[in-house]
Amino acid sequence: MNQEKEDASRITKRHSWVIVLVSCLIAVVFSVVTIVGAGSLNQNLDTLSEHPFAVSGSLYKIRRYMSDSQIRMGRLLQYNDTADVEIVKNALMEIYGQIDENAAYVVENYLGKDLGNDDELVELIGQIREQENILLDHSAAWTAEQNEEFTAQHLTPLYEQLDELTNQMIQYTENTVVELSRKSDGILTTTILFTCILCAAIVIVSILYRHSVNKELRAQAAYYNDIHYREFLFNILSGNIDDVYLIYNFTGKNMDFVSTNMERIFGVDCDKVNGDMETLFAYCDFGEQNDEVKTALERETLIHAEWEGTLKNPRSGKTTDIRFGIYPAMEQNGVVRYIVEISDLTKIKKTQQTLMDALANAQQANEAKSEFLSRMSHEIRTPMNAIIGMSTIAAAKIDDRVRVEDCLAKIGYASKHLLMLINDILDMSKIESNKLTLTNEPFDIYQFLNTFMSIVYQQACEKGVELTEKITGFDDHSSTLAGDSLRLNQVLLNLTSNAIKFTQKGGHISISVQRFLRQGKNQRVRFIVEDTGVGMDADTLERIFDPFEQANAGIAKKYGGSGLGLSITKNLVTLMGGTIDIESAPGKGTVCTVELPFEMSDVELSYVKEEELKSLHVLVVDDEKDVCEHTAILLERMSINASWVLSGREAVEAVERAYRQEKMFDVCFIDWKMPEMNGLETTRRIRRTVGGDIPIIIISAYDWTDIEQEARAAGANGFISKPLFGSSLYNTLVSVTGGSFGHSGAIGQPEDYTLEGKTFLAVEDNEVNMEILKEMLELNNAQEVVCAYDGTEAVERFRESEPGTFDAILMDIQMPEMDGYEATRIIRALDRPDAAGIPIIATTANAFSEDVSAVLAAGMDAHTSKPINMHELCKLLRKLTTKHPGD
Ligand code: ADP
Repeated sequence: MNQEKEDASRITKRHSWVIVLVSCLIAVVFSVVTIVGAGSLNQNLDTLSEHPFAVSGSLYKIRRYMSDSQIRMGRLLQYNDTADVEIVKNALMEIYGQIDENAAYVVENYLGKDLGNDDELVELIGQIREQENILLDHSAAWTAEQNEEFTAQHLTPLYEQLDELTNQMIQYTENTVVELSRKSDGILTTTILFTCILCAAIVIVSILYRHSVNKELRAQAAYYNDIHYREFLFNILSGNIDDVYLIYNFTGKNMDFVSTNMERIFGVDCDKVNGDMETLFAYCDFGEQNDEVKTALERETLIHAEWEGTLKNPRSGKTTDIRFGIYPAMEQNGVVRYIVEISDLTKIKKTQQTLMDALANAQQANEAKSEFLSRMSHEIRTPMNAIIGMSTIAAAKIDDRVRVEDCLAKIGYASKHLLMLINDILDMSKIESNKLTLTNEPFDIYQFLNTFMSIVYQQACEKGVELTEKITGFDDHSSTLAGDSLRLNQVLLNLTSNAIKFTQKGGHISISVQRFLRQGKNQRVRFIVEDTGVGMDADTLERIFDPFEQANAGIAKKYGGSGLGLSITKNLVTLMGGTIDIESAPGKGTVCTVELPFEMSDVELSYVKEEELKSLHVLVVDDEKDVCEHTAILLERMSINASWVLSGREAVEAVERAYRQEKMFDVCFIDWKMPEMNGLETTRRIRRTVGGDIPIIIISAYDWTDIEQEARAAGANGFISKPLFGSSLYNTLVSVTGGSFGHSGAIGQPEDYTLEGKTFLAVEDNEVNMEILKEMLELNNAQEVVCAYDGTEAVERFRESEPGTFDAILMDIQMPEMDGYEATRIIRALDRPDAAGIPIIATTANAFSEDVSAVLAAGMDAHTSKPINMHELCKLLRKLTTKHPGD
C-alpha cells in the first residue's frame, strides 16, 4: 500500500512538473505571440501613419503647391512685366520651399523606393523649377505668345508628368495602406488564433493539473486514511495481545514507539517509558544478566538477543516473568532502530509447569502401572503356583484321598484369591470405562451395618484389633434407604479392611454411621472409619486415590493388596454422588469420611430383625476349639443362644439329649472335616435321631461342590464356608429358617436348585471347560447334557432335535467357526416353536457390562461369567427353566 502511494506521489510530482513547464512554455509563447503581434500592429500603424498617409499628404501638398506654382506661372502669360515677374518669383520662392519640404519628406518616407518614383519626383520638380526659372528670366522680355509657347512646350508637359507621377505615387501609398491593413488583419487573426490555442492549452493544462492534483489529494487522503486505519488496527492488536512492542532509536537514544498495552500488561506508564530505556529497566530484573541486557542496546554491532527475567508492576507490585527480546530492525536515513519485544511468560510458564506436572504424573502413573504389573504378576503367580503345584501333587497322590482333598482345598483358596484379584481389576476397568451402573434398591441401614460388622468383626478379631460401631440419626421408621447397598458395602469394606490391615495388634477401629441431613426424602449419611494405625504421610495422602498407588513398594510385600482399593472406593463414592475425605498422619492413625446421598424408601422390608433371631438355639460342631468359640461369639453378638461341641460324637449326643429334653436346637452348624466322625456322618446320625426337623448346615473350608450331593443325601440343608463371618452366619440362618424361627417344624427346605429331568445343550469349544460344565450340570441331576463344540455344531444339534428336547442352551461366546452371538441369532431365527423361547445362557470369560449387553442384544436370556459358580448357574437355570402356571 505504501509502495503504491509512493509511486502515485512520485508520478503526481512528475506530472505537476510537466504541467508547470508546459504552463510556463505556454505563457512564454503567449507573451511572445502577443508582443510580436502587438509590435507588428504597432509597426504597421507607425508605418501607416508615417508612410502612406503622411507621404500621400505630402504628395497632395506637392500637387497643390505645384498647381499654385502653375497658376502663378500662368499669370505671367498675361502680366509679364518685371514687377509681375518679381512678384511671381517671390511667390514661387515660398512655394518652392513648401514643395521641397514635402518632396524631401516623400523621398524620406516613400515606401515604393524600389519603383524609383521618389527620385523621379525630385528630378521632375527640379526640371519644372529649371523651366520655370527660364521662363521667369525671359518672361519679361518675351511676348505673351513666346511665353505661352514656352509654357506649352516646356512646362505644361512637365506639369502633366508631375501630376501623373504624384497620382501614381498616391495610388501606390493608398495601395500600401490597404496592404498594411491586410497585414494587420493577418497579424490580428494569427494573434487571436494563437491566443485561442494558448487559452485552450491553458484550459487543458489546468484541467490536467487539477486532475492530477485531485488524484494526488485522493491518494494522500487514501494514504492518510490508510495510516489511520493501520494505526487503528495496530492499536487493536497491541491493545489485545499480551506482548509489548517498543521501538528504540539507537541513534537518538530515545524511544520512538511504545505499544499502548504496556500499561495494561505491566502497569508501566507509556509516557514514562517514552523517554528512554533506563526508565523501563528500572522495573526489570534479569539477575546476573542485568548488565548484559543493558549494554546490548548500546553496542555498535547490532544483535538479536533474548533474555528471561522479571518485571515488577509498579501499580500492583506484582512480579511477572518476562522474555525481553531485541531485534535490530531498521536502518533508515542513517537512523538505526531496535525493536524490543517484552512477552508475559506467566501463561507459558504455567503451561510448562502443567505439562511438566502432567509428564511427571504420567511417568509416575506409568511407573505405578509397571510396578503394579510386576506386583500383579507376583500376586497372580503365587496362587497360580499353588494351583499348578497342588494339582501336580494331587495327581501324584491320587490314591491318598486325604492328601488329594488337602490339595483341592488349597487349590480352591488359591483360585478364590485369584478371582478376587481379577474382580478388583475388572471393577477398576469398569469404573474407568464408565460401565459401572448402580442399583437403587431399598435396604435397612441397621441390618446393613449389622451384616457389615459381622463380616469385618472376625478379621479385626484375628488381627487383635478392637472394632466398635455407632449409628446415629436414624429411627425405626426411617431406617430404610434406597441405594446400592452392595456398592456401599464394597466402599466400607475397602476402608475397614485397610484400617484393619494397617492397625497393629491392640489398636482400635471405630465405624460410625450418622444421618446428618434430612430434607424430605433426601438424606445424607456420613460413614466414618477411624483407626489408630500406622497412618500415612502427606505425600502418600496426595496419591492415595490414584490407581495402583501404595504408600511404598514394601507395603505390597508386607500387607499385599493391589493399590486399587481406594481408587475403586473413590470412584464408587463419586458415582454414588458422594464425597470421600481421608485425614491421616504417620503414627497417628487415619480417619476416612464418606458422605453419601440416599433417598428414604417407603418400601416395607420383610427382613428378619435381629430381635427375631434371639429365640434361636444353635449348635456349633467343629474339632477346632477356636472356630467354635469364634462362631459362638459371632452368634451371641446377634443375641443367638449358641452351644458348641468339638466332635461329631459329642454333637450326636448333644442333639439326642436336647431332643429328649425337648429343648431342641433350631439349627446345627457341623464342620465337614472332623477326625473320627466327619460332618456327613454326624449329619446322618443326627437325622436318624431327630429326622428332618433340624436344619443342618455343613461348614466347609473347601469347595463343597464335590460333597454336595452326598451331604444332601445325608440330610444337610445348606452349606457355609470357612472362615465364618457374622454376615454369612446371619444370611445362612435367615435362608435356612426362612425367617420363621423356632423348631416348630417349619424348617426351611434347602434351596432346591436341582436340575432333575432337564436336558441341556452345552456349547463350549474348550474341552476342559466343557467337562467342567457337563459335570456341574450332571452333579445337579441334569437328565442329559448334549455337547456341541462350536456355534455351527450347536445350531445343527438344536435343528435336528425334536422341539422341546432342550430345556436350555449354555452358550460359550468365543468359539472358532461360529461364535455364540451368531449361533444364538441363527437359533432364534429358526422356524420351530421353541426357537424364540428356549433359554440361552451365555457362559463366557468376557465379564464386562458391555459383554452382558452384547449377549442380551444377540438374543440370549442371561450371562454368567467364568469361572462358573455352580450354585449361581444352577439357580439361574432353575429360574429360567421352571414353568410357572400360565407360562
Ligand atoms: P491396597 O489394596 O493396596 O490396600 P488401597 O488403594 O486400598 O490399596 O490403599 C492404597 C495404600 O494406601 C495402601 O497400600 C496404604 O499404603 C495406604 N492406606 C490405605 N488406607 C490406610 C490406612 N487406614 N492406614 C494407613 N495406610 C493406609
